[in-house]
Amino acid sequence: MSNVPGLDEFRSFFLDEVEEAAEEIESTDAIPERVLKRAAELGAYRLTLPEEHGGFDLKLSDYLPYLEASAEGPGAGRMLVHLTNGVWRPIAEFGTDEQRKLIAGLASGDEVVAFCLTEQAGGTGRDLRSRAVKTQDDWLLSGEKHLITFADRATHFLLVVGTDSEHEEASLTAFLVPRETDGFEIDVSQPTMGIHGTGHAFLRYENMRVPDRFRLGVVGQGLEVALSFLDYSRISLSTCMVGLAKRAMDEAVAFSKRRETFGKLISSRQAIQGHIADMHTDVTAGRALVRAAATDYDEGLPVRIIAATAKLFCLNMVGRVTDLALKVHGGYGFTKAAPIERIYRDARGFWFEEGTQEIQRLVIARGVLDSA
Ligand SMILES: Cc1cc2nc3c(=O)[nH]c(=O)nc-3n(C[C@H](O)[C@H](O)[C@H](O)COP(=O)(O)OP(=O)(O)OC[C@H]3O[C@@H](n4cnc5c(N)ncnc54)[C@H](O)[C@@H]3O)c2cc1C
Repeated sequence: MSNVPGLDEFRSFFLDEVEEAAEEIESTDAIPERVLKRAAELGAYRLTLPEEHGGFDLKLSDYLPYLEASAEGPGAGRMLVHLTNGVWRPIAEFGTDEQRKLIAGLASGDEVVAFCLTEQAGGTGRDLRSRAVKTQDDWLLSGEKHLITFADRATHFLLVVGTDSEHEEASLTAFLVPRETDGFEIDVSQPTMGIHGTGHAFLRYENMRVPDRFRLGVVGQGLEVALSFLDYSRISLSTCMVGLAKRAMDEAVAFSKRRETFGKLISSRQAIQGHIADMHTDVTAGRALVRAAATDYDEGLPVRIIAATAKLFCLNMVGRVTDLALKVHGGYGFTKAAPIERIYRDARGFWFEEGTQEIQRLVIARGVLDSA
């Protein structure tokens, strides 16, 4: 097994090599094989995975600088790192010995697990409409999912579905289903505003027969499985927002030092300097909050509130910073020639991943009220 990559080499891969592939990713909506292969060679998929499964076992605080660096490039790059380094957790915690064998494949990049919760007709929690009905030996799964990241490449799908009657407050159960399962329709035709190349798809299954050994965790434990890595994931995603906001700021700063109006560089104008100061303040504050959350996590402290706080702050922060960075670029920033155009679109995906602003507020308010 290779060693933990150097941070500079890691950043340069995402900022140079993945960036160079950006146009291809945008136009084909797929990540080129050479990028996937190089990411595997660098160890990008194994940063946090346990050593016994071929991982580097980085604790969250040590992992975040890598994830932040990956987020400075096109969105698809950070998504590769973010997904694999999170999704192994419920498999390790709730999986059987057989299911845990998958984690070594995740580390090498040979296996990809897509996490499947969101439904177009249902919701993202107890209001899911997908159902699994037990037969004597198997389960029959029926329903749909959408917005499933890397469904184009996934070898397995971690599906969370209801396991009782059709009423709204279902008990949920998780299943780890191989891609080739009969009756599994994967429709990769959901083009998105940004984060191109991440293979978002609709999944459909009607009376899809799966054996009981595909169940992940016990019956009724699905919500627990889904939530088991949500706080970790919210902190990780927040660091991605810091990385992308930093990139937006760097692009704006570099542009301001090239662009002259009325005989002067715009970087010499107080108005532009104000934007730069505001962007820097936002990025610095976001990073400090995320690092504080990671320290709490590594120390085993409860992080539900601080993880949601980091996600809420950082999604507003990356919105403000990408708005300002676009403004600094003037009309040029609105053209496809400027990286800020793609960065601006990529940033909008953060509004939804791991829960919206409204949901973070609910979590924070509930936590604060309960502890008062
Ligand atoms: C880039 C990207 C990648 C994604 N990857 C995945 C993936 O791999 N797997 C997966 O399962 N999902 C994935 N998603 C889906 C994402 O998790 C959901 O979009 C998100 O959780 C919001 O759910 P929803 O889209 O159903 O919005 P809705 O629940 O329909 O919300 C619509 C609006 O109503 C508000 N709202 C909803 N409920 C409440 C409430 N109780 N109180 C107050 N306001 C409320 C929301 O905040 C939002 O503003 C991805 C999304 C994106 C954009």
